[in-house]
Amino acid sequence: MIKINKWFDEDIINCYKDEVVKEVIKKTNVKYGSDNIKYINFGNTDMYCINVEELLTSKLNELRTKYKGLDLYMYLCRLKKYKGKTKIDFIEYLYMWDTTVKREEGKCIIHLRGKDITIDPETSNREEFKNLREYVIEQIKNYDRDIYEELINSFSNYYKTKNDFDALLDYIDESLSECLCEKDEKFDAASKYASQPYIIHYDKINAEMRNKLLSSLGISVCPYCNRQYITMWHDEEADDEEDHSTADLDHFYIKSDYPLFALSLFNFIPSCQICNSRFKGGKVRNTLYPYEEEFGRNIQFQLELEGQTPNEELQLKKWLGAVNASSDKLKLSLTHVPESDRDDFSLKVDGSKKLFRLDEVYDCHKGKAVEVVLKKRIYLEGAYKKYVDDFLEKSDIPSISLEKFLLGYDWNDDNFDEPLSKMTYDIFHSSK
Ligand SMILES: [Zn+2]
Repeated sequence: MIKINKWFDEDIINCYKDEVVKEVIKKTNVKYGSDNIKYINFGNTDMYCINVEELLTSKLNELRTKYKGLDLYMYLCRLKKYKGKTKIDFIEYLYMWDTTVKREEGKCIIHLRGKDITIDPETSNREEFKNLREYVIEQIKNYDRDIYEELINSFSNYYKTKNDFDALLDYIDESLSECLCEKDEKFDAASKYASQPYIIHYDKINAEMRNKLLSSLGISVCPYCNRQYITMWHDEEADDEEDHSTADLDHFYIKSDYPLFALSLFNFIPSCQICNSRFKGGKVRNTLYPYEEEFGRNIQFQLELEGQTPNEELQLKKWLGAVNASSDKLKLSLTHVPESDRDDFSLKVDGSKKLFRLDEVYDCHKGKAVEVVLKKRIYLEGAYKKYVDDFLEKSDIPSISLEKFLLGYDWNDDNFDEPLSKMTYDIFHSSK
């Protein structure tokens, strides 16, 4: 996961305001009589309203600072995912998101009613399942105690059976959807986002706008995998002057789960088609958010060669032998340095690795990784380097970084804007 250090330029934001935001504001005014959308409608509170233009064009961290209720909104949206889950899947999902849930010897430990409760995913103990349901609903209390009370008073038996629990989740889902529904009518949670009249709907973006957004950011490589180029191209035979992109515009928060964010610029991530469709599909995992987070120095690619030796010459021979050797002597992996406990960052790193199958897709780049080790050892340490340095010094050629010349990357700006640059950087700096 490579951080996107860019943001949409002013021209494109203004164009977005003209073409998309205006349309949403019109519909918002019909429903709410103002430019503000209510996004949570439990309780009697007016605090869960958000300005449409800000919602659609501001950065996420700015919005979360200003609109504290967005964190509750996100939690409620995630809750839907517990619907119909088996106990094992329920625990897996909980474990993916909640740093306070512990796992010991395959069992899950939650803190409920002031004490630790151990839950065995393998048993069909109904009391344990009740505790789990109670636990995830009780978390609402941390965001808004009144809403929590209201929900459990209306659904006092929600934790007892699967049907009771699902009824509560449906109620939450329908209520949240209702806020975004164009007409004042009851929403059907079972029906898909695509088929219902939402104030905020992705169909307000056409292909031209999508391409404008993709080119505006100027991202040259997929931030999720750092493997595929993202380039713009032009259709000579078409009448239009449009630029097209090889990338998809990924919704970081899936639009059917988080309909409020379906048109927010902060939710658009240019990504390669493999990461967006093939791997991500409709799957939900807790992953790093590329506008704010990245693997950085803490998560590094490491290349291990079976049978390391302290003897310099012998070690070099081993690396040379590994170029064509059977690949099982080599192990390339993304490693957390230093090893950390279950904190928010670690959960997201784990989710990102799994969602984009990074360990698997990088397996085929082991050859390239060995090449980095060898180039460093052969060309950048010793006689060859001395020869090149002397040559460059005597010539009139403007100085060129030898790293850039040999490996193709200039890391000074730390951009990782070439495919595999993160892997190359990590291997280069960690290998001896
Ligand atoms: Zn990708």
